[in-house]
Amino acid sequence: MAEQHYDFFASVIKSFDKAAKFTKWEQGLLEQIKACNSIYSMRFPVKMDDGRIEVIEAYRVQHSHHKSPCKGGIRFSDEVNQDEVMALAALMTYKCAIVNVPFGGGKGGIKINPKKYSVYELEKITRRYTSELVKKNFIGPGIDVPAPDYGTGAREMAWIVDTYTSLKPGEIDAAGCVTGKPVTQGGVRGRTEATGLGVFYGLREVCNMVEVMKRLNLPIGVEGKKVVVQGLGNVGYHSAIFFQRAGAKIVALAEYEGSIYSEEGLDVDAVFNHRKSTGSILNFPGAKNFNKNTDALEMECDILIPAALENVINGENAPRVKAKIIGEAANGPLTPEADEIFIKKGTLVVPDMYLNAGGVTVSYFEWLKNLSHVRYGRMEKRFTENLNTHILGQIESLTGKNVEQKERAFIMHGPEEADLVHSGLEETMITATREIMDYWHSNNEIPDMRTAAYVVAINKVGTSYAELGIFP
Ligand code: GLU
Repeated sequence: MAEQHYDFFASVIKSFDKAAKFTKWEQGLLEQIKACNSIYSMRFPVKMDDGRIEVIEAYRVQHSHHKSPCKGGIRFSDEVNQDEVMALAALMTYKCAIVNVPFGGGKGGIKINPKKYSVYELEKITRRYTSELVKKNFIGPGIDVPAPDYGTGAREMAWIVDTYTSLKPGEIDAAGCVTGKPVTQGGVRGRTEATGLGVFYGLREVCNMVEVMKRLNLPIGVEGKKVVVQGLGNVGYHSAIFFQRAGAKIVALAEYEGSIYSEEGLDVDAVFNHRKSTGSILNFPGAKNFNKNTDALEMECDILIPAALENVINGENAPRVKAKIIGEAANGPLTPEADEIFIKKGTLVVPDMYLNAGGVTVSYFEWLKNLSHVRYGRMEKRFTENLNTHILGQIESLTGKNVEQKERAFIMHGPEEADLVHSGLEETMITATREIMDYWHSNNEIPDMRTAAYVVAINKVGTSYAELGIFP
């Protein structure tokens, strides 16, 4: 869990400053890139089921307006505070820049533990929060577009789009005011698993890099690698699933109540169902129990994936982490002190700001779908299938041989929405991984991959500001 007084925004600034040294931008421009442009801190009353009035503390931060709209999730958590939302909004700016998603960074937070509220209370809180955003012009398809984050999902996004549309009748692009919606409400297929799948694509690309694996003394590829995932929420669950499907061994999983370990590997779905039915990850048949969820971070493995909250690996526990690769699926799971320790140990830290960009990348696809008012694949699926059938027919008649049934189905298949979304995501993650790695390897002075990622991001945002000029 995050510590109470951890200064998250300061740690983002620290990483930024470390990287800014490797750029050519003047100090004033760097200060502008770093600063949070708009901070909306609000308090509003909500009547609870028992008739009591509760004052809710909430935030929306727009870190950068170098591109519009701003983009970033909304989290529901007891730990929410202005500093945290500012840090997360800043990370969104850099994340979007790295993966070439044309948005400024934003983030929202409501300081509640969603487990302590009824569904109706959560709906009232979400809708009231949305109307506060509308009042101050802090939401809209061209202004600021929220999405799911820790403690929120498609259900909350449906409440947001419904509240927004009812307050803005006739706005033709209203569905683009939020992403991560249910597919029936303008969502895109493939958004739910997007962040976890992006984490997998990013790490798979790293594992396929011969030089990098040689340095870490690991074999090439994902298959057979021992993986530990901390956090079985949407991101952690899907990361684990995709690694398992690719032949990796999930040796440990952790949730709030503790960690479990199995040398032979855990079946992710079986563990997920076990937790659903017993209320705990612990006591999974054949696995060993550990009382703390942070125990998983220190277990023997090749790849460690912290997929819960920030600040879980810090100066205190980093020396005990044994993984050779750490894939930051969560936002900010490592502190700058931990980074320094891993540089010395030679551990490869694959940084959050691009590794977990799958969510916002597919959000971008959803937003484009909303603006174009047409489902991906609708125009070309049939055409492609007809064309493929024709080509296959020609090949078969010219060669006098028939293509096997399984191959035939694969070749003929025209792209559906999920196919296109996954392929767009794969392309994005592979390109970003290579760009950052190439930059890192081209400059011996850059100490780690996070710094290289920051440099790439700062250069992109800097170019944008420099080309736009500063409004007098
Ligand atoms: N909350 C996710 C993130 O931190 C997704 C944001 C989005 O889709 O806008 O990247």
